[in-house]
Amino acid sequence: MPPMSPMTTNAFPDGRQGEGTAVPSLMEQLPEGGLVATRLDAALGWARKYSIFQYPFVTACCGMEYMSAAASHYDMDRFGAGFPRFSPRQADLLMVVGTISHKIAPVLRRIYDQMAAPKWVVAFGVCTCTGGFYDDYSTVQGIDTILPVDVYIPGCPPRPEAVLHGLTLLQEKIQKQGRRGR
Ligand code: SF4
Repeated sequence: MPPMSPMTTNAFPDGRQGEGTAVPSLMEQLPEGGLVATRLDAALGWARKYSIFQYPFVTACCGMEYMSAAASHYDMDRFGAGFPRFSPRQADLLMVVGTISHKIAPVLRRIYDQMAAPKWVVAFGVCTCTGGFYDDYSTVQGIDTILPVDVYIPGCPPRPEAVLHGLTLLQEKIQKQGRRGR
C-alpha cells in the first residue's frame, strides 16, 4: 500500500477525474477505493483497550499467579494488555497484586497519583479486594478504601482464566468510556 499523503488529487478511486477541484487523496489510497468511517469515541476506546500498559504493584504470593497469567501458556499479551511498564508515568493500568499493608498504602497511592489520566485500577486477588483472611490491624481492608478500583478479580489466588476474564471486562469498560477515559 502506498504511503498516506496529505496531498490532494483530482482522481477518484474508480479512475474518474474530478472536475478540476482537488479531493482528499485518502479516498484514493484505500484498497478498492473503500472508505472507513467511525466515531472518535469508538476509535479512541478501541485504541486504548488494545494498548494497555500495566504497572504491576506486586507484594505477595498472588505474584506467582500474575506471572503465570503473563507467561507464554496463558499469554496475557495476546489481548494487547500484558506489557509491563515499571514507571507510573508510562503506565495506564495499575495492577495491584497481593496484600497491601497500611505501611505500603501511601506508596501505592502516590504511584496512582503519578500516573497520567486516563488510568485504571485492577484489584488482583482477595487480599486486594477485601483484605482477605488478613482481618487485622496491619492490612488494608480492600484497596478501594484508598483508590478507585475498576475491576475486582477474586480468588486466593485467582486462576489465570479469572485474570484474563477480568482483563477483558476492563477492556469492555474502556471501550465504553470513549473520550472521558473513566
Ligand atoms: S489472595 Fe491469597 S494468594 Fe493472593 S496475596 Fe492474598 S493470601 Fe496470597
